[in-house]
Amino acid sequence: MQRRTRIVATLGPATDRPGVLEKLLDFGLDVARINFSHGTSEEHRGRIDRFRLLAAERKRVVAVLGDLPGPKLRAILKASIELIAGSKLTLALKPEVAADVHLTEPEALAKVKPNHRVLLDDGRIQARVHLVAKDIVTLMVEVGGTLLPNKGINLPDSELTIPAVTKRDRDAVAVALGHGVDWLALSFVRDASAAHELRGVIRGYNVEIPILAKMERPEAVRDGKSDEIIAAFDGIMVARGDLGVEIALEKVPHVQKQLIQKARLAGKPVITATDMLDSMRKNPRPTRAEVSDVANAVYDGTDAVMLSGETAVGDYPVEALSSMNRILIEAETHQEESGPKPMDIPRGDITDHITHAVCDLARDTGADAIITPTLTGRTARLVARHRVASAIIAVSTEQSVVQRLAVVWGVQGVTVPFPIQRGDDRLEAAVRASFLAGVVKPGSLVVVLAGHPIEGGEGFPTIRLVRVGDDGRSCEP
Ligand code: PEP
Repeated sequence: MQRRTRIVATLGPATDRPGVLEKLLDFGLDVARINFSHGTSEEHRGRIDRFRLLAAERKRVVAVLGDLPGPKLRAILKASIELIAGSKLTLALKPEVAADVHLTEPEALAKVKPNHRVLLDDGRIQARVHLVAKDIVTLMVEVGGTLLPNKGINLPDSELTIPAVTKRDRDAVAVALGHGVDWLALSFVRDASAAHELRGVIRGYNVEIPILAKMERPEAVRDGKSDEIIAAFDGIMVARGDLGVEIALEKVPHVQKQLIQKARLAGKPVITATDMLDSMRKNPRPTRAEVSDVANAVYDGTDAVMLSGETAVGDYPVEALSSMNRILIEAETHQEESGPKPMDIPRGDITDHITHAVCDLARDTGADAIITPTLTGRTARLVARHRVASAIIAVSTEQSVVQRLAVVWGVQGVTVPFPIQRGDDRLEAAVRASFLAGVVKPGSLVVVLAGHPIEGGEGFPTIRLVRVGDDGRSCEP
């Protein structure tokens, strides 16, 4: 069985080790995440180039996701500090001021008030604001620990006034676009306006690439706000690491379910991220709870699951990816009996009716595949939200469009290897391209959907049911 849930893995020093990235691709890695919060531009370039090369050698359709830090605060300090409960810690409001810790975005401290919580290292260390002076904020440590350089800092009680796209993000966008990433993710999105800001920066480079909102701020996951964010972005990530620090941990599972459901209804991909197999940084086997967590993300209907430290810096990156692959396949096999009822996709506009009709036809005839020639990937995404058993094949003349779909549940991308002229039968060309790519075989029963004007092109939406002939041409079903 072909796995439908996609795997995102973060590249880092562990995947630079000889043979590791090769094995990750062989075990089915779909999307490489480059975390712009760590590493140098040279490291990012080297990793992306190697990933593309190895994927091309394997004829794999994969995507690169550039993850921007956003207004994420990180601790700048020369050496680790041992913090004990009851001790004081000073944070500098300006880079030139002497203090225990400086912040990547010190202006974020502008709105902190006495008694606000300050959480360090993903909430492992807890402190409260004791005193706010002109240049320095003094904290009282409540739960101690060792603070290492570059660890995250969260201010869940304070208003964040820094821009959604910071100077650091703008620098990272230049590097990411220069290296040809397929998607950009923005951390700490607070509202829909962040999408307009980021798209504006991207347009400055005369390109257009899809953007993903990382859902991790309390205000972003509120009802209404999350709908606006999903509408403004092209996809979301349930960034459970920071989310679980910014809101109560026990709220994370139901927020995850709600966000996945909303994104799926909108036909936008959703990645469930962070600590999925965290113990595998140090152990070759996952815990039972981690296995359940990954399987439950599948039952929730996620498009993709993500590995972070497990593959970037862990001791067992290959084992983590192969475990993930096995868990996903097992969960998908039993999804019908253990998962939720098929979601009631709305039948609002013409697009909804057409994608419903295509999926009904594929189910009723037991079609092997649904083939969608696509301009932007939208038709394929809207079919994929139905989570049909038939293969979903997206065909495009643009390799970039096909690569982006590596994040979307169950979509296999095919780039057309021959010229298509104006007036050619696009549906027939899509069947032939799928045949040449080996994703349909002679005798396969396929439903072909040309979604225009779903995607704004010329012509009418058209659905065709055909059988693939011995020469790859359509014949009588
Ligand atoms: C998260 O917080 O869950 C996350 C994915 O973001 P980052 O790894 O950048 O902290």
